Amino acid sequence: MNAALVTVGDELLSGDTENTNATWLGRQLTERGVTVKRMLTVPDETAVIADAVGRYSDAFDAVIVTGGLGGTPDDITIESVAKAFGRGLIENELARADVEKHLESVAEKYPELNVDVAAEARIPEGARPLLNRAGMSPGCVLENVYVLPGIPTEMKRMFEDVADEFEGDVTARTLYTEEPEANLIERLDEVRDRFGVQVGCYPDREAGHNRLKIRDSDGAVLDEAEAWLTEQIVLVEV
Ligand code: ATP
Repeated sequence: MNAALVTVGDELLSGDTENTNATWLGRQLTERGVTVKRMLTVPDETAVIADAVGRYSDAFDAVIVTGGLGGTPDDITIESVAKAFGRGLIENELARADVEKHLESVAEKYPELNVDVAAEARIPEGARPLLNRAGMSPGCVLENVYVLPGIPTEMKRMFEDVADEFEGDVTARTLYTEEPEANLIERLDEVRDRFGVQVGCYPDREAGHNRLKIRDSDGAVLDEAEAWLTEQIVLVEV
């Protein structure tokens, strides 16, 4: 399985907010054996979001979009995703009940809260609602596109509910060496060519070593590639 991530928000592009959602989701998916093929950050613009979601939905097995949920005018992600599929928006009963439940739970703290419940509960026609167990705005799944909140605690909680829908067979082995990166090139090329595995070399200047990562969907092939590298490169324990 492969996937793409689309993070929505002007504040991400300006650097005001660090894009921890992309990193966190990338790690979660990778740990589940899914190959993350793209991470794209887009501004709060309907046409741009709809275009990205439409293209990625066609190109990849799954797309996760975060940010810009809710019923306020600057929250345009849900309508943009609907637009990508040529769908309208429809108030969803489960989503509405979830929004009302959330409002009840915060009524004492925020008695004056002015929320357009109907707008909050709107999701694309034919979409499955995702309840927001850590906040107010529901997400949804439309075909292979998962729409999650931007607020990291809400996003993580919602991802938990759909995590089992992301499953791949790619695993990785990580090895460490203090040999200089330039000297490793030939051997890294060779392990890739011999065994067909993906190879990455990531220098850590502070720690003074290079982290080598090999990935493949076949565990036996990974074993062979790892054994070969272990013979060819002076490895260190970390
Ligand atoms: P809500 O659940 O309130 O409707 P939302 O989906 O509308 O949330 P945004 O309005 O896009 O979310 O963002 C709300 C806040 O969440 C931002 O101000 C920022 O602090 C945080 N946030 C949004 N996107 C990200 C991201 N990709 N990485 C980390 N934090 C993010």
